[in-house]
Amino acid sequence: MATVLITGANRGLGLEFVKQYAADEWAVIAVCRHPEKADELQKLMQKYNRVRIEGVDVTDAHSVNILREKLADTEIDVLINNAGVFTGGTVSGSATKIDMGQNFGTINADEWASVLRTNTIAPVMLTEALLTNLQRSKEAKVINITSRMGSIDEMGPSYIAYRTSKAALNAAMRVIAHDLKTKYVTIVNMHPGWVKTDMGGQEAPLEPPDSIKGMRKV
Ligand code: NAP
Repeated sequence: MATVLITGANRGLGLEFVKQYAADEWAVIAVCRHPEKADELQKLMQKYNRVRIEGVDVTDAHSVNILREKLADTEIDVLINNAGVFTGGTVSGSATKIDMGQNFGTINADEWASVLRTNTIAPVMLTEALLTNLQRSKEAKVINITSRMGSIDEMGPSYIAYRTSKAALNAAMRVIAHDLKTKYVTIVNMHPGWVKTDMGGQEAPLEPPDSIKGMRKV
């Protein structure tokens, strides 16, 4: 049975990844910050005994280290770095624009650093922490859920923190792909489309099942 580890697994795209992989008979390590509040995940764990939940804040080195120790002998075939934050822009379900320091002229450095920590640094640190587990697999893959908003080619206005966090994630993972070339670990950065989640908002055209189905096919 192949094993996938998914971060941000309690809602949105991460939860949908768990649903689809579990239904497809994968062993799933579902990582979220607050397992006790992750009702949907708890239900999936009851339905499928191959789903396990691990409480980890991906920005917290101590928490990541505990996970690494717990998973010491576990082979991981696919690591999905999905957890992410998007602050600023519209509040989900409302048309209200809020400025959380992501626009030039009102930049909030602490907010920016916090977005970089979650969206850029955490996926790199988690990949590093779980490298031994990935190397136990013959076809290990690290899938990073990035965003077109971080594409240098298509860089648009506003959302400086989010855009730069995903651009830097793309760059960091390309660097790591070179480092891992001889270690048989494939790195892929994927844009999920604009999807109806708390982050994507209700006006997004794609439903989570379709986004995840498409990414899994790729
Ligand atoms: P979402 O509904 O807001 O869910 C984000 C997930 O990330 C939640 O499970 C959240 O956990 C988790 N998370 C955030 N910070 C964390 C931390 N420090 N430690 C552990 N988990 C943490 O967002 P989504 O739409 O599913 O987005 C998933 C990924 O897709 C993100 O990387 C996002 O940037 C990317 N993306 C989404 C869209 C879209 O249209 N939806 C488009 C492009 C890219 P809590 O519940 O504990 O907060």
